[in-house]
Amino acid sequence: MSQAILLNVDDNDSARYARTRGLQRAGFTVHEACNGTEALELVTQVNPDLILLDVNLPDIHGIEVCRRVKKSPSSAAVMVLQVSASAIAAPQATEALNNGADGYLTEPVDLDVLVATVRALLRLRTAERDLAKSNADLQLANKRLKETNHALRRSNEDLEHFAYVASHDLQEPLRTISTHVQLLDRLLGPRLNDDERERFSFVVDAARRMRNLIDNVLNYSRLAIEAPKLNPVALDDALAWGLDNLAESIRSSSAEITTAPLPTVNGDRAQLGQVFQNLIANSIKYKSDAPLRIEVRARPGAESNWIISIRDNGIGIEDQYQNLIFTPFKRLHGREIPGTGIGLALCRRIVESHGGEIWVDSKLGEGAEFSFSLPAVL
Ligand code: ADP
Repeated sequence: MSQAILLNVDDNDSARYARTRGLQRAGFTVHEACNGTEALELVTQVNPDLILLDVNLPDIHGIEVCRRVKKSPSSAAVMVLQVSASAIAAPQATEALNNGADGYLTEPVDLDVLVATVRALLRLRTAERDLAKSNADLQLANKRLKETNHALRRSNEDLEHFAYVASHDLQEPLRTISTHVQLLDRLLGPRLNDDERERFSFVVDAARRMRNLIDNVLNYSRLAIEAPKLNPVALDDALAWGLDNLAESIRSSSAEITTAPLPTVNGDRAQLGQVFQNLIANSIKYKSDAPLRIEVRARPGAESNWIISIRDNGIGIEDQYQNLIFTPFKRLHGREIPGTGIGLALCRRIVESHGGEIWVDSKLGEGAEFSFSLPAVL
């Protein structure tokens, strides 16, 4: 504050001099001007923090000087404290403040009041500057965030596209490999010895797993590229479709499946059917030694939505993995249980593109309940 530069403008030499001395004693650097023209020149030369401006100047009226100072972008932030004779104070004060002055004092001005007012205005100026700087910083940070977001979205889209094209183009050569490996297996099978047969079965198995994986990656990336076509879907139908595709494994696992009536939602029937299919297939895959029981039900959620749950009495999932399993390729098991680690990621992508969420509640050894929300049809 003591470094602040003031410009003292007054055509009355003795009054100006007395005030300058007082302000200098208070620690300010003070420049002087005795008329409006000189004042405007000094504003550009010394770049003051505050102008103490007499209203009645011989050349340009003090209020006009103030208006010009505030109008120019290079000096608009300079504080202006106007001073005038008491007899004409009220109308001039209003006019001065309306023309941009930051404060107004009437003669006779007490030196202490003047110094205190100057300090108060300078504090205001510092606060205004800080605020303007924070605003500018915030705007810059916002701009950078937008740019980063944009770049991230684009690189995500590129990646999705790459995964889509790569998995799509890999399908064809892989199909050829699978077909011919299976053919060779059939032709050569009887002629191979045990060791050769075992090695060959590794090749057949690897080709089958790779095909499965590529199909899943393709499905997954296709979901990011194609928005779901939303139509009223009876979830009972979507569930029936999923169960139908699993008929064989339901039968061989002797699973007992209980279903309660499900609502109709806006969605893509094939995609929602896929969610049921993946979740129920997992319940079958990750069953425990106990007879498998699966329960499908729906309840209204708190936010105009439905919550659909699939509960099993299988092996369950440890707490620490419950969020991770929705990430692509995250598996908690080795080859002893076949899988690609994409099923739940696919479910999450489908549910989220329908405006819902998916989560699991489970305790290791006590089964798992997978739930997903979907907006209700209003
Ligand atoms: P995948 O079944 O092909 O491994 P998913 O994405 O469907 O891939 O599942 C990811 C992991 O979540 C599985 O490897 C499994 O460990 C666990 N998981 C999924 N569903 C269940 C379930 N119902 N009970 C126990 N664990 C499950």
